[in-house]
Amino acid sequence: MNIIWHGVRDAHAMEEQALTMLRGMLSRLENYPVLCARMEQHVTETERQAEALKKLLEGRDSGASLVKDTLGKATALGQALSGMFADDEVIKGVMASYTFEQMEVAAYKVLISTAAVLEDTTAMAIFEQNLTEEQDMADWLFDHLDQTTRIFLARDEAGLPARR
Ligand code: MG
Ligand code: FE
Repeated sequence: MNIIWHGVRDAHAMEEQALTMLRGMLSRLENYPVLCARMEQHVTETERQAEALKKLLEGRDSGASLVKDTLGKATALGQALSGMFADDEVIKGVMASYTFEQMEVAAYKVLISTAAVLEDTTAMAIFEQNLTEEQDMADWLFDHLDQTTRIFLARDEAGLPARR
């Protein structure tokens, strides 16, 4: 198996992990409608990313079984972050989310370089679109960290359920 397919397989596992963490966090965002809407958008994007990577793997000799083998397997960083995602404090979830997006950005950057060396334009197009979506999500989370923190603090001040 070519080295790029190990990378694609890992990226697919990463996206599956992202979906689990995003969906878990979404269930606790009822008091953060702006953040909730953006994360719902990213769930849709992530579903498409995972599907595109799966198709890429299935289209090659690596086969779908390799995708199946890695389903549910988490990256070490993802595992470290999953506790923060699961935390009731929305702010911790946003910090974990931002960190995870940056890991995704780096993963696709590496895959883009790999695809360039192998002159694989099909794979390149998928990695580039995914990279753009991860970067946009990371930027959005960063740009809204002030707003999200202020909502959190205002709710705490008002004696509303502090941890949400
Ligand atoms: Mg992703
Ligand atoms: Fe992402």
